[in-house]
Amino acid sequence: MAPKPYHKPKLAVWKFASCDGCQLSLLDCEDELLALTDEVEVAYFPEASSAEMKGPYDLSLVEGSITTSHDAERIHQVRRVSKHLVTIGACATSGGIQALRNFKDVKEFTSIVYAQPEYINTLSKSTAIADHVFVDFELRGCPINKYQLLEVINAFLHDRKPNIPTYSVCVECKRRGNLCVMVAHGTPCLGPVTQAGCQALCPTYHRGCYGCYGPMESPNTPSLSQEWQKLGVSAVDLVRAYRSFNAYAEAFRKESDRHEP
Ligand code: SF4
Ligand code: SF4
Repeated sequence: MAPKPYHKPKLAVWKFASCDGCQLSLLDCEDELLALTDEVEVAYFPEASSAEMKGPYDLSLVEGSITTSHDAERIHQVRRVSKHLVTIGACATSGGIQALRNFKDVKEFTSIVYAQPEYINTLSKSTAIADHVFVDFELRGCPINKYQLLEVINAFLHDRKPNIPTYSVCVECKRRGNLCVMVAHGTPCLGPVTQAGCQALCPTYHRGCYGCYGPMESPNTPSLSQEWQKLGVSAVDLVRAYRSFNAYAEAFRKESDRHEP
């Protein structure tokens, strides 16, 4: 019997509320892109090509958060046509910077910003994709790290678990031989509670971490906040620190709530 013809796995890239930065990380894989397209059929990727192949897709990468009722329906369609679904970036994994509105009344914002707010159709909260459908894997970062993205795609092509660390940025600092910016310079840093992925980019240049990869696996946020307070950081600034790219990730949200005056 003749062997079955080989079909490359189909890759789809979807966008919800986001800045497109995480999708660009895929296009940023300049040296690896040709090798990648040897292994997968880029079947749906409107950011990169108007050519479109029909689903189902073997792997869907989803960027962006759910902020409208239309998107809340569309994500179910995406899930239905996807064998595996991986969310990429802080928007998709925690609601992103747009989740800052979750702490306030969105109607108040729209009435201030728009002349005719009645035309704005939006949900009161920006939420992660996993709050709506089953997600096979969440890749953190704002934006994501392109090498981690390649690792995740490779893992799904080979039916294995992605090798993505869940430890903190501190481990990456130690590996790079960095002096701790908190201990050595008294600079407030979210590195101890933030998941690795950036090779400790900011502390390497003597700045504190702003937490763009979101909470690490077991973050001790109360303890870190205590250390920040010893450095003279006010409650208002603590709230601001936890409420940035990953404001609605559970650990950061709870800790920011704890310090809200
Ligand atoms: S996670 Fe950051 S880089 Fe990625 S789409 Fe959202 S805002 Fe842009
Ligand atoms: S803010 Fe933190 S997680 Fe983001 S690049 Fe800087 S050190 Fe890395």
